[in-house]
Amino acid sequence: MKSTILVLLGAPGSGKGTHSKVVAEKLSLPVVSTGVMLREAVAKQTPLGKKAKAIMDAGKLVDDEIVIGIVKERLAREKTGCILDGFPRSIVQAKALEEFAPVTTTILLDVPDKELIKRLSGRWQCKCGEIYNIPNKVPKKKGVCDKCNERLFQREDDKPEAVKKRLEIYHKDTKPLIEFYRKKNVLVTVDAVGDIEEVDERILKALK
Ligand code: AMP
Repeated sequence: MKSTILVLLGAPGSGKGTHSKVVAEKLSLPVVSTGVMLREAVAKQTPLGKKAKAIMDAGKLVDDEIVIGIVKERLAREKTGCILDGFPRSIVQAKALEEFAPVTTTILLDVPDKELIKRLSGRWQCKCGEIYNIPNKVPKKKGVCDKCNERLFQREDDKPEAVKKRLEIYHKDTKPLIEFYRKKNVLVTVDAVGDIEEVDERILKALK
């Protein structure tokens, strides 16, 4: 059986992580997120995590070889395929991926920059995993989690300077992937502005 390699492509804040959940359930495939894997490595203070932390906090990209290595190792265990969130992010990564797991579909989550800045700078989270989005999802008590009463914090790379850097890098390094996948005839663009459920539906429709 040919495995499904579905790439969720989009700028930081376009909702790749959020929408990957419904797609994963629909297709019964695991989500492989390089951002999640790298943040785990940072939290565990592994050699990789120690190397990646400062780069990630500044909103820059971790070295291609490192990220390609962790994805390749992970995909070797996913025989039926997976949904990729946050990888590839450069042409070098996309070409490497074609060598070990050719992409079958790419969903481009289309969100204008103005909306992305609003989303990223309004994102606050709790260590329990709950995510708030000011002004769309506001906690009952300012700065405190509704679920566990802990203080909310902002991801280091959601702070204004890092957000600016992440968007710059998206335009320079990641956007060329749109043309790369369009030429391969595997690209579908979805308007990703709107309610989460609404966008989920658009994605599922695009996958039919
Ligand atoms: P994300 O959660 O996908 O926004 O990723 C958070 C951070 O992890 C990024 O800003 C990068 O520093 C790093 N990262 C995640 N995926 C990649 C990738 N494919 N290539 C390089 N760096 C990455």
